[in-house]
Amino acid sequence: MIVMKKSLVLLSVLLVNTCILRIKAQEAKPEKPLNVILMIGDGMGIPQVSSAFYFGEETPNFERFEEIGLHKSYSTSHLITDSAAGATAFSTGQKTYKRAIGVSKDTIPQETILEKLKNEGYQTGLISLTSITHATPASFYAHVKDRDMHEEIAEQLITADVDFLAGGGRKFFSNRSDGKNLFNILLEHNYTLDTLKLGSSKAGMRNAFIIEDEGLPSKIDGRGDFLKEASLEALDYFGKAEKPFFLMIEGSYIDWGGHDMNPEMMISEVADFDKTLGAVLDYVESHPNTLLVVTADHETGGASIGKYYKLDAETGKKTEVPEKVAVYFITDQHSGELIPVFAKGKGAENFKGIYQNAQIYHKILKAIHEN
Ligand code: MG
Ligand code: ZN
Repeated sequence: MIVMKKSLVLLSVLLVNTCILRIKAQEAKPEKPLNVILMIGDGMGIPQVSSAFYFGEETPNFERFEEIGLHKSYSTSHLITDSAAGATAFSTGQKTYKRAIGVSKDTIPQETILEKLKNEGYQTGLISLTSITHATPASFYAHVKDRDMHEEIAEQLITADVDFLAGGGRKFFSNRSDGKNLFNILLEHNYTLDTLKLGSSKAGMRNAFIIEDEGLPSKIDGRGDFLKEASLEALDYFGKAEKPFFLMIEGSYIDWGGHDMNPEMMISEVADFDKTLGAVLDYVESHPNTLLVVTADHETGGASIGKYYKLDAETGKKTEVPEKVAVYFITDQHSGELIPVFAKGKGAENFKGIYQNAQIYHKILKAIHEN
């Protein structure tokens, strides 16, 4: 009888202790807000993703996703959209007209997801292979009625206080029609600036790597691993502060491969994007408080993967080579296909189904708020 009482007391003490421990654990370690990485393969439809499965040597990293959806890419003005309206739909949560940067269909500036999360205490970052003032990155911090207003966009960037910037576009800052050197203003905003290369990120400061006059070279013109290296440098930099982060990474030239109707360019740019994706997925898998969304603004080239034929120069006869495929394009313009969305990490299940491009904004915010 006495033994039983003792064990009851012991049990009660244990229960109380467990409760206190639980409360302490909750107090000591509140769940940090969700980190968000948005990767945009400009011009990357299903055919472009498919090319990674035929032309790569390893299993593409795209295969590491289980949560996959499709979005409807059209703009309010054109069924076949462009990168400006496409990225603005992701950044503001509403569709707009072709060429619009961060403005509604009535040209009214809209708060972007980057600006909103920054106001909520997030660190922010943008990586592009084009000028950092180009339509895709610009749609996250600028508000202008036309995508070609590069000098105005650059002027808006220097006061947007984005914490990590990597891309091209030097001339829009330091060789301008108004004679201003915007890099001086950037330095006043607590930036370290490198106009030649990556690698010198400093914790506790903002970092800008604006390393070409306009865009970076394409992969086939010798770009190297800039996209992957910039992405890893950004993730390393964000990890040094306690705050959560929002990072947009653009594989910009998958689109240009389509405009050039150049299979080699398209395939090599998708491979470069996939390589970067592998590094980012490794990060997401080891940092579970992160959501990764990978998509495109639209498809470019009306690309398809079809039969490969060998041509006999003498007879002109075409013979199918069963173990090879070829990439074909039907246009040097954008197309209207449904666009794949791949998601990984917390909230990834929200990205299944078929929905409007602008829903990506709302699904990201839902994942953050439900975390
Ligand atoms: Mg782009
Ligand atoms: Zn394009």
